[in-house]
Amino acid sequence: MRRRWFGSTGREVPAIGFGTWYLEQAPHEAAIAALRRSLDLGVTHIDTAELYGSGAAEELIGEAIAGRRDSVFLVSKVLPQNASRSGMRLACERSLRRLRTDRLDCYLLHWRGPHPLLETIETFEELHREGKILSWGVSNFDVADLEEAVGLAGEGKIACNQVLYHLLDRSIEHRVLPWCEEHGIAVTGYSPFGHNRFPDPQSPGGRVLAEIARGHGGTPRQVALSFLVRRPSLFTIPKASSLDHAQENAGAGDLLLSVEEVARIDTAFPLGARRRSLPMI
Ligand code: NAP
Repeated sequence: MRRRWFGSTGREVPAIGFGTWYLEQAPHEAAIAALRRSLDLGVTHIDTAELYGSGAAEELIGEAIAGRRDSVFLVSKVLPQNASRSGMRLACERSLRRLRTDRLDCYLLHWRGPHPLLETIETFEELHREGKILSWGVSNFDVADLEEAVGLAGEGKIACNQVLYHLLDRSIEHRVLPWCEEHGIAVTGYSPFGHNRFPDPQSPGGRVLAEIARGHGGTPRQVALSFLVRRPSLFTIPKASSLDHAQENAGAGDLLLSVEEVARIDTAFPLGARRRSLPMI
């Protein structure tokens, strides 16, 4: 499993992580097994949010990682409407309780909302000083939001920006990714399979993925994940609710693409024109 520095945190984190949106809707034992097998395979970066299943995803994770907390890089997110000084402290406590832990490795603002960004950032810093969160970051932030946030917090404070990134939507490559790289901010790509929009195997792009996969003894999804973490600033967090899916995704951590293969995928799934605003789901 490829591991790399997670922004300014000084922590090494696997490039392939584990997403948990809608995980609580899978059969309970299957979801727990998928999480635990992922940890066994080095997929120790787990992404969740108070939003997911209204806390049910965090509870599931709490159960799955019991007794193994120290090996996990645990990320959760505060809802924008809770990101005030008092609201965020309460939200953080609730998340910690559901996750059965005393600290988050990284706490993110899920997207920009009604509360002043300065208040949210000051509260992140307070929670950090208290040891309740070991780092903090943002999600769905475009460059203007990032500039504002770094202006308020200072350089080296924002660990990561979690943004939409898959083969059919590479929008972040226009400006967000280079900006984050310049400022030492990790970029975690969410919905790497397009949230159920993975290229059809019969499509031209799907055939390119399959051909490259055959050369590695891997699968098209592993090739896609490998492409999405081809730069050292990139992380990805596929969600899986079965052992098979979890194992397949973990395998992408050892599948390294050649420069020529990256170029073929780049041509098969073109970046496209820059859009006015950063896409999110
Ligand atoms: P995704 O990871 O792109 O796709 C998940 C879907 O792919 C599920 O239906 C899953 O099925 C399927 N899948 C996973 N591995 C597979 C495999 N090896 N073979 C076949 N199918 C496979 O979608 P996502 O959940 O939207 O994104 C991933 C994570 O990103 C989320 O869970 C969440 O943690 C995070 N996220 C963050 C934001 C944000 O605003 N910050 C927004 C969206 C998502 P099974 O469930 O049956 O395994």
